[in-house]
Amino acid sequence: MDYRKLFVVEPGKRVKLDKLDADYTGKHCSEDRAKAETKKYLDKLNDLQYLLYSEARHSLLIVLQAMDAGGKDGTVRHVLGAMNPQGTMVTSFKQPTAQELKQDFLWRVHPHAPARGMVSAFNRSHYEDVLVVRVHKLVPKSIWSRRYEFINEFEKLLHRENETYVLKFFLHISKEEQLRRFQERLVDPARNWKISEDDYKEREYWDDYVKAYEDVFAKTSTKHAPWYIIPANQKWFRNLAVSQIIVAAMEEIGMQMPKAQVDLEMIRRQYHQALDEDSESRPDEKRRPARGAKSKK
Ligand code: ATP
Ligand code: MG
Repeated sequence: MDYRKLFVVEPGKRVKLDKLDADYTGKHCSEDRAKAETKKYLDKLNDLQYLLYSEARHSLLIVLQAMDAGGKDGTVRHVLGAMNPQGTMVTSFKQPTAQELKQDFLWRVHPHAPARGMVSAFNRSHYEDVLVVRVHKLVPKSIWSRRYEFINEFEKLLHRENETYVLKFFLHISKEEQLRRFQERLVDPARNWKISEDDYKEREYWDDYVKAYEDVFAKTSTKHAPWYIIPANQKWFRNLAVSQIIVAAMEEIGMQMPKAQVDLEMIRRQYHQALDEDSESRPDEKRRPARGAKSKK
């Protein structure tokens, strides 16, 4: 099953969130099977990120949005956790500081866009400026309503100017599942610290958020920066779908392992031949294969 096709929001299309089943797990009736499949994708992701880093030409930006307790943190842990930390960056966007509020809304975002070769994840993002800001009327409609256009231009800039591939995920949980997750935090001492009264208050605005999200999808899902709505009530299915989509998108970039920048023959001759000859003159010593050389079994 190609989850890109299944979960993408086609540009310009209006979706109704309550028509999308947050419990969907496809043919995966067993969590174990899904986990085994996910592991395959995560291994691939690790290889693809190595290639991205080596080539240092393209970059990847993963945007994560969800209602509270929707699983953004878990997705970061699972998906980004499969990659080499040296090539990744995660930014959590919280309430803007006084200084940030004096700037345009993209000012605090742009410095966190990935450099060539890097993978960045946004845990919340510039989309909060058309979500929470709209729901709580933090700025007038005349201001937030023109931000979709700026967002589209910004993402286009990242893609065209810097070959950044932008993948945006909405982790779709149901309102009941949210309450279940809040409850789990109450009974599990290791998760008590996560409880925030604000989360319960935000829950009262659920329908307003749904409306705001539906506008986001209709106005900002583009070919170069698509939105994917991921059924996320089952965490194992969410991890499977997100990792499969990222793998497929990265495979499509058409990355190439860069060629060596030195004359390999010369390096071999100048720095290794003498060593080889030296060890050949001392046949008793066991020779260790070079690191990275494939052993013939
Ligand atoms: P978690 O609760 O899982 O740790 P979180 O992303 O909910 O993660 P919090 O510190 O609980 O983190 O909340 C951050 C808050 O900042 C959210 O309520 C979000 O809506 C708010 N926020 C983010 N960006 C903006 C913005 N541009 N303007 C106003 N509020 C924002
Ligand atoms: Mg929170």
